[in-house]
Amino acid sequence: MRPVDFDILIVGAGHAGAQAAITLRQLKYAGTIGMIGDEPDVPYERPPLSKDYMSGDKPFERILIRPETFWAERGISMVLNQRVTQVDAQAHRVTTGDGTSYGYGKLIWAAGGSPRLLSCNGGMAKGVHAVRRRSDADAIMARLGTVRDVVIIGGGYIGLEAAAVLSKFGKHVVLLEAQDRVLARVAGPELSAFYEAEHRAHGVDLRTGARMDCIEERDGHVVGVRMEDASILPADLVIVGIGIIAEVGPLIAAGALGANGVDVDGYCRTTLPDVYAVGDCATHANGFAGGAKIRVESVQNANDQAKLAVQHILGQEVGEYDALPWFWSNQYDLKLQTVGLSTGYDQTILRGDIASRSFSVVYLKDGRVIAIDCVNAVKDYAQGRAHVLARSMLDPALLADASIALKDVPTVAVPAS
Ligand SMILES: Cc1cc2nc3c(=O)[nH]c(=O)nc-3n(C[C@H](O)[C@H](O)[C@H](O)COP(=O)(O)OP(=O)(O)OC[C@H]3O[C@@H](n4cnc5c(N)ncnc54)[C@H](O)[C@@H]3O)c2cc1C
Repeated sequence: MRPVDFDILIVGAGHAGAQAAITLRQLKYAGTIGMIGDEPDVPYERPPLSKDYMSGDKPFERILIRPETFWAERGISMVLNQRVTQVDAQAHRVTTGDGTSYGYGKLIWAAGGSPRLLSCNGGMAKGVHAVRRRSDADAIMARLGTVRDVVIIGGGYIGLEAAAVLSKFGKHVVLLEAQDRVLARVAGPELSAFYEAEHRAHGVDLRTGARMDCIEERDGHVVGVRMEDASILPADLVIVGIGIIAEVGPLIAAGALGANGVDVDGYCRTTLPDVYAVGDCATHANGFAGGAKIRVESVQNANDQAKLAVQHILGQEVGEYDALPWFWSNQYDLKLQTVGLSTGYDQTILRGDIASRSFSVVYLKDGRVIAIDCVNAVKDYAQGRAHVLARSMLDPALLADASIALKDVPTVAVPAS
């Protein structure tokens, strides 16, 4: 294959890759831009895959990040259906699965992550699906007509959102969470208990502390999930939502530091020369997690890191990454909006009445606001952002009084140290 060179090459045509290319052209960058993605489609939004795309409420065209023609119009060369398998950092070249070599001036690695698969017997049987790509959601939707019993493994946001969609379709849904509550990694017990009750009220058989053993299959197709106590849950569709593994293999093989994620500094630079990494695959020190080195899996992080990396590449004056984290999840008629990172909280304050299905949970650490989960509470979300940014120290009694707008809750004097 004839080699091709780009001034800036982006690997991964997802949220972060798309944002990087868009920002480059918005900032009037005139050099050549290439984007290599291993999916057949131009960049699309991933969140709807477990929400209104899976439910059929939004067609694919409406989840495209930009119209199909946008990329060519902006002189962004798309190489689709090709996977980068090798990076030669010294030569500034990458190679794709078909053997083509691409040169770059700067490389932006935005390859996201792949779903963690079940390692047990039957984990690869037909009818066992993850939800990461359009093709996953399409495969699930194509089978819905013949499916009665669904087992969802994993009580994170993706598993819960899929449960909401599939139970609305009248499927018999069992959701298995190995820990003692859903959303344990990302939210406090109040929010977990609320969502568990909501799903049960909608007919989902939600089981916590539920340990599966393996997938039962017949003629290569899933027929059930065997639990550790040897009971078998019938299933003609299994959805696995147990997290992702960062797609960083070629970078690590090329010598970049990292493990489940590639290490980046405050400007999204990896330890390889002229190689940046952004989005789900980038391990960075995050000020909203107390400086801990983490990967953040959200559209906000993908977009904000991509913008920062591009500004840095273009030599603009930028500070180190400190964008405010935010996230959302839609289940049934519930809109959850989250700001900040609750990791490491030592106190939660409930605002509003959970029974009203409109409330917020404020997470404090050492008396300071570090995150807020808002369920059908848009005002709290809008007004709470400033408190998370400022790490406000608020009077807990007033904070708990939902009749006082969050913006009007007075700060308390910081004790002299
Ligand atoms: C079902 C679902 C629901 C979600 N819901 C929400 C939500 O409500 N709110 C929210 O904030 N976030 C949500 N997320 C997370 C959000 O979508 C991700 O954080 C975001 O997509 C990360 O962007 P990214 O560009 O880093 O990775 P991706 O969007 O995954 O893009 C990476 C792309 O690179 C490709 N790729 C991987 N390896 C290679 C390679 N070697 N060569 C070429 N291409 C490669 C991948 O196939 C993919 O197309 C959801 C994710 C999923 C899957």
